[in-house]
Amino acid sequence: MLSLTCRDIGMVDCEFVATGNTEEELWKKGSEHILRIHGTEDADITPQFKQKYSQYIKYS
Ligand SMILES: [Zn+2]
Repeated sequence: MLSLTCRDIGMVDCEFVATGNTEEELWKKGSEHILRIHGTEDADITPQFKQKYSQYIKYS
């Protein structure tokens, strides 16, 4: 299982944790959350964004 905490990608007061069995699934859930809750534009979930924050993904 992969997980990524919203805080780790710069959303200071957010406890949301995106999870997924694959990185693709994790980013899909994560992007739905940040679009809905943080109002980030869809275009911001770029390969560069993923590359920048993939270091924070935890594997368990
Ligand atoms: Zn969040």
